[in-house]
Amino acid sequence: MALTRRELLEGGLGTISVLSFSLVRIPGLDGRARADAGEPVAEIPVIWMATGACSGCSVALLNTASPTIQEVLLDPVLPGLHLSLGFHSTVMAASGELAMQALETIAREHRGAYVLVVDGVTAAADDGLYCRIGERDGRPVTAYERVVELGGDALAVLAVGACAAFGGIPAAAPNPTQGLSIGELFQREGIAVPYVNIPGCPPHPDWIVGTIATLLLAGVDGLALDEHHRPAPFFAERIHDRCQYRGNFERGEFAERFGEHGCLLKLGCKGPITRADCPVRKFNNGTSWCCEAGHPCIGCCHPDFPFESSMFEPVEPSDLTFPAAYAPAEEPAAGGVDTGTYVTLGLIGASAFLAGVGVATAANRLNAEEREEEAEPPASPGREE
Ligand code: SF4
Ligand code: SF4
Repeated sequence: MALTRRELLEGGLGTISVLSFSLVRIPGLDGRARADAGEPVAEIPVIWMATGACSGCSVALLNTASPTIQEVLLDPVLPGLHLSLGFHSTVMAASGELAMQALETIAREHRGAYVLVVDGVTAAADDGLYCRIGERDGRPVTAYERVVELGGDALAVLAVGACAAFGGIPAAAPNPTQGLSIGELFQREGIAVPYVNIPGCPPHPDWIVGTIATLLLAGVDGLALDEHHRPAPFFAERIHDRCQYRGNFERGEFAERFGEHGCLLKLGCKGPITRADCPVRKFNNGTSWCCEAGHPCIGCCHPDFPFESSMFEPVEPSDLTFPAAYAPAEEPAAGGVDTGTYVTLGLIGASAFLAGVGVATAANRLNAEEREEEAEPPASPGREE
């Protein structure tokens, strides 16, 4: 699909999509993918609003490997469904008034039918003056106003990254801008639109693309959100239970300095209290992840991140007798479907990955029910999620 410079600069919906998510390679959707070429396409616009953000989450999206960003940008859309990113101030070619017009057009013409993605906290202090996004009638519009307006009229809202999901670093004490997560802002403003937290600093691109795709295919209910509004298939298991250093931990073999081999607990690892599938999904197209690279998990997916302390401070208590003080790793329920099945499928590619979401959701529910029945003690005495 070749785009002229004029088409790119015009940006926004109605002419082209600045970004479009191609779902044509998802097995199980082949029926839809083979739909008649002339079949009407349901256009689901996406507005990506960066508030108090560092753009790391956008960079994570650009690093998506399955589908690649080239596929995301250029591939033909799935017959019957088209998810298009109509506004993204970092990625889109349009800027200034042209970009804001695209935003206003989407909000006006697709009220109640677009997905709003927010990355970054939303500043509430001093009438939100710490972040302004465009103008209206010659007056700056704050990010707070934008999120309230756009969030209130959205089909669903995705809070992407640790900041939008839980406040993250910008909302750490003393939080001078009164940065709010989406959940806090919605509660404060009485907004009842469903929202999904995709934490991480930054999140894995699979978590972003997979969540958006699942939302498109199965709605919010298909995401099986946990108690922190996170898609459970990505955030069900403790990092500690999938870490390759778990054996070192059990034997009491700890790295005392960076570069030493062994479990990273004494260097501040938050793996025992953080739930995410980083050890099995890995980053940079499955290359590595934090602990494998020799750095302790800093718990960037944990609601308490950044923990109001040094990221290298060990979780308490740090002077344990091993392994008696820790419960054994969680085992898959007998007869159940291990979430690893879903993870493995996910790594094969977007298609298998998305098919696995449904399997994992069912598996997680089954395992959670069985774990509840077994009433296991927590695996860590730290600030468990
Ligand atoms: S404490 Fe950290 S490095 Fe050690 S086994 Fe757990 S997750 Fe891995
Ligand atoms: S391993 Fe920990 S710090 Fe690294 S991405 Fe996962 S949750 Fe974040």
